[in-house]
Amino acid sequence: TAETSAIALGNRFASELPELALAWQAADTPDPHLLVLDEPLALELGLDPDWLRSPEGIGLLTGTQVPVGATPVAQAYAGHQFGGYSPRLGDGRALLLGELADGSGRLRDLHLKGSGRTPFSRGGDGLAAVGPMLREHVISEAMHALGIPTTRSLAVVTTGATVQREVPLPGAVLARVASSHLRVGTFQYARATDDVDLLRRLADHAIARHHPAAADTEHPHLALLEAVMAVQASLVADWMLVGFVHGVMNTDNMTISGETIDYGPCAFIDVFDPATVFSSIDTGGRYAYGNQPVVAEWNLARLAEALLPLLADDQDDAVALATESLQRFRGLYSTAWSRGMRAKLGLPEGLADDVTSALTGDLVALMRDNHVDHTTFFRALAEAARGDAEPARGMVLELAAYDAWAARWLALGPDAGAMDRVNPVHVPRNHLVEEALTAASVGDLQPLDRLLEALRAPYDPRPGFERYAEPAPESFVGYQTFC
Ligand code: AMP
Ligand code: MG
Ligand code: MG
Repeated sequence: TAETSAIALGNRFASELPELALAWQAADTPDPHLLVLDEPLALELGLDPDWLRSPEGIGLLTGTQVPVGATPVAQAYAGHQFGGYSPRLGDGRALLLGELADGSGRLRDLHLKGSGRTPFSRGGDGLAAVGPMLREHVISEAMHALGIPTTRSLAVVTTGATVQREVPLPGAVLARVASSHLRVGTFQYARATDDVDLLRRLADHAIARHHPAAADTEHPHLALLEAVMAVQASLVADWMLVGFVHGVMNTDNMTISGETIDYGPCAFIDVFDPATVFSSIDTGGRYAYGNQPVVAEWNLARLAEALLPLLADDQDDAVALATESLQRFRGLYSTAWSRGMRAKLGLPEGLADDVTSALTGDLVALMRDNHVDHTTFFRALAEAARGDAEPARGMVLELAAYDAWAARWLALGPDAGAMDRVNPVHVPRNHLVEEALTAASVGDLQPLDRLLEALRAPYDPRPGFERYAEPAPESFVGYQTFC
C-alpha cells in the first residue's frame, strides 16, 4: 500500500511563481474522520482509496501529514468582490498542497479548503464547517456528472474542531482537485505589483497549463485572453442551460482554466426566472441567474486590463487590441448557448440561425412568463416530441401561446431520444441538498449518499429515485443561501 512519502506532489506553481506562493502549514486536526471520498477520482489521480481512508491518508487529505518534498503554499490573488476591488485576498482558509499528474499525464492541483489561518486570513478564522464543505462536494459532483467543467471534491474530512458561526458548528476540510487555481484575480494581483516579469511568467505558466495553443500564435498573450474568453463563454452557457446560479462571480472566483470554482452560495433554479438570486448577501442581484453572461464579460474585461502591459509596448495599442477581442465575447457566448439550446430542443443540424434564434428566444419568454420548473419542463418537451403533449401543457398557463410555439418546434422534427441525453432528470435541487445536509449534520449520511447516487446519473430516470426528479414542494419557497 502507498505511503505518504511515496506520493509525488509537484511544486510547479510555487517554483515558477514564488511571488504568488507563501509557504504555509495546515492547522492540526484534533479528531479527523473521513466523511466522503470520491473513489473514482482518487483512482484517476493514482491514489489508493483504501490508503486514503487510513490515518496517513487522512493526514494527506487534511494537510497535517504531507509527503516529503511537498511545499504547501497559500496563493496570493486580488479580486473585485461585488464590483469593489480588493488588492489582497489570497487563500485565507486554503492551501495548495501541490500538483499531481493524473492517469493521462495532466497536472491537477491538490488543494485544501478549511485548513486553518494563513497570512491572508484578515479577520477570518481560516476554517470551514461540515455543511458548506459537503455542499461543495455534492454540487461539484453533480456538475461533473452533467459534463460541466468544474473543480472536483476528492474528500471531506471532519476535523473534530468547532467552528464558531452564528452557532457552533463541526469543522471540516475539503480536499479539492482542479486543473489549477489560477483566477482572474491572480492576474490582477500580479499586475498590481507592477512587476511585468512576474505578469509574463504568470501568463506563460497559464498558457502552458491550460491554453498551450496560444503559445504558437503571433500574440500569445492576446491569444491567452481570447482562450479564456472562449472557455468562460462556454462555461457560463453551460450554467445557463442547466439552470445553475453561481452566486458569487467575483473576479477571484473565475478561473483561467474555464472550470467552475468556489461553490459557496450557488444553487440550481427550480422555476425559470432570470431574476433569481439565492445568496443572502447579493442584495442588489448583481449575480442573478440572468446576469451571469454579462458579469462574465465584465470579469474578462478586468483580465484584459491586467494583461495590458503584455499586449503591446504602446498602452493605447494594447487597449485597442483588448477592446477588439472583448467585443467578441457576446458572439462566443451566444454561439455556445444557441448550440446547447438546439441540443436541448432535439433540433437537427443545419437549420437556419434566424429560425432557431426566434424559436429559442420565444421559448425563454414562454418559460419565464409561465414560471415553469426548468428541469422538468425540458423532459416534458421530450414527451411532446414523442407525441404526448400533456406533460408540457400541464406546466403552462398560456396554452394558446404554448401550442403555437410547440407547433413551430415540432415542425422541425425534434429527436426525443437526443433530448433525453442532454436534459437532466436529476439536478441538486435545493430542498434535496438541504435535506441531505441536515441529516449529515446529525450523523446520518444515508440521504447524502442516495442524493449523490441520483446526481451521478443525471439523465437516467430510475425506479426508487422518483422524488429526486420532482420539483420542490410548493412549501419550499424563498430559499436563501449563505456563504
Ligand atoms: P470567497 O467569497 O469564498 O471567494 O472568499 C473570499 C476571500 O475571503 C478569500 O480570500 C478567502 O480566502 C477569504 N475567506 C473566506 N472565508 C474565510 C475564513 N473563514 N477565514 C479566512 N479567510 C476566509
Ligand atoms: Mg473564492
Ligand atoms: Mg467561498
